Amino acid sequence: MRVETLGDGRPEIAVVGGIHGDEPAGVRAVERLMADRPEVARPVKLVVANEEAIERGERYVEADLNRSFPGRADGRSHEIRLAHELGEELRDCVTLALHTTQSYGGMFALVDEVRELAREVCPRLSIDAVVETGHAEGRIFEVAPETVEVECGYQGSDTATENAHRVVREFLAATGALPDEGAPRQADLPVFRLGDPVPKAAAEEYEVFVENFEEVVAGETIATADGEPVIAEEDFHPVLLSAYGYEDVFGYTAERVGTLSD
Ligand SMILES: [Zn+2]
Repeated sequence: MRVETLGDGRPEIAVVGGIHGDEPAGVRAVERLMADRPEVARPVKLVVANEEAIERGERYVEADLNRSFPGRADGRSHEIRLAHELGEELRDCVTLALHTTQSYGGMFALVDEVRELAREVCPRLSIDAVVETGHAEGRIFEVAPETVEVECGYQGSDTATENAHRVVREFLAATGALPDEGAPRQADLPVFRLGDPVPKAAAEEYEVFVENFEEVVAGETIATADGEPVIAEEDFHPVLLSAYGYEDVFGYTAERVGTLSD
């Protein structure tokens, strides 16, 4: 894990990339800040998390880091130990954690639940939606509840790298570390609450027919697995849905619960 600080004093703001080793956008955005070292009004901790996985170009070495929190100092896997170390670094920090997906080209935020931080920060980010994960075991929120995760676009794309860089600047402006450039706030960001996964049977070829965040109605064909249709049992909004993004699930169902200003 690489940790650097911008500015003087004990940081209460953190930006983390490389929680997943095969998502270079966040790593590049953090490394760029480490190199540029902009003048900050409040100290900022910069973290490249899973260097071993990044070196291998793999999501993780032994276990998904974002399912390994709170972790343990003497844990049995690299990621369980790393989760503990990262938790120590992020204690008391308002944190931006950068990710990318195989499911969506734009940006959206994930929080455990919408509280003051999300209401304050999210309207100032170039995101399309806010997703509440609820209490999902093992995620970063277990150690750093004041975290906003942002999915920056398609894994490995140049757009995701540009998005990551932009959202870091926006987050640092929203938290008072960089000057507020007076960018307009988004008025009606939609909020979705994550529900059950959409299971995926073992098959060679998968296809997805619905768009993330756009309502699917019961009876609609969501996807196929080797030509076998997967039918929606009830109305929902898909989130993180893609043909090949996860091994056992296509993605998740979600409910649209309103907007951030509700
Ligand atoms: Zn990720």
